[in-house]
Amino acid sequence: MVFSDILGQDRALGIIGANLEKSHFSGAYIFSGPEGIGKRMTAKIIAGQLNCTGQVSRPCGSCSGCLKIQKEVHPDLQIIQNGQSQIKMEDIRGILRQASFRPYEGAVKVFIIDNAHKLNSEAANSLLKILEEPPRDVLIILITHKPQNIIKTVLSRCKEIKFSPLIRAQLENVLIKNYALDKAAAHFLAYYAEGRIGLALRLKDTPLLREKNKIFDSFILSSKPLDHSIMNQTKEQLQVCLNILASWFRDIYLLKCGLPDQETIHLDRHSDLLKLIPRFSFKQLDEIMATLSESSWYLDKNLNSKLILHNLGVQLWKA
Ligand SMILES: [Zn+2]
Repeated sequence: MVFSDILGQDRALGIIGANLEKSHFSGAYIFSGPEGIGKRMTAKIIAGQLNCTGQVSRPCGSCSGCLKIQKEVHPDLQIIQNGQSQIKMEDIRGILRQASFRPYEGAVKVFIIDNAHKLNSEAANSLLKILEEPPRDVLIILITHKPQNIIKTVLSRCKEIKFSPLIRAQLENVLIKNYALDKAAAHFLAYYAEGRIGLALRLKDTPLLREKNKIFDSFILSSKPLDHSIMNQTKEQLQVCLNILASWFRDIYLLKCGLPDQETIHLDRHSDLLKLIPRFSFKQLDEIMATLSESSWYLDKNLNSKLILHNLGVQLWKA
């Protein structure tokens, strides 16, 4: 992994590059921006650059330092990744202990805290100690898509670098050129993922593209009440189904407002979308989208979203 693998982040990489050149990359940083756009990968490449032992260009991507960083087994790299769980005091205690030692193999000890908005208040407060006076050979990178959920005292001690999603048309081209996707799949993934390359790449090997048309046919174009196969899905499948439906109605709504065809998520079903425009009023579309987002919330909280989905079906057939 090298910096040129990170696409569409010229501004963020420019700042990082300038700091690295002046050997100013130490202390505490916060990488913010939507999920799946390369923040974590960039943090690892920086760790690679700082600990690379290659002689020509850094990170070389092939020395033992680079390879260990890539596999996340380098003794001078520690990544805290608790997924959706809280980051607790014990996690931070480990960082404080490790940071007091000199690097073992490389030049800089790098600590990456993924989903840093999950720091609980105890953990955030104990992190302050090291953020106030980080040792010279220590770099701490906080990664978050919700910086507003991080306490101000932590934020103010970190230099923030903002990452942004790719322009959707740009991501569509990347998916066609670099990943050999056909135009319909690339367009759908780029627009559905809202320019987040990580999400688009994760979805490209799933049956989502096929499924979304099945959902469209059975849920919107069908003239009979809800297909039971939709009602009997797992929580995750239902969540995907709700997201897909929301994206359909987003398209119908925006086409009704005059959005250029090229900007629709479901360009491959453009003619079906056009047919649906006169069927729904703006008020109905507002209600449907509110129901969808409510259902998604209920589903997330493990409440009875099937009932809501059923009501949504009724709402649609009335239309
Ligand atoms: Zn290297």
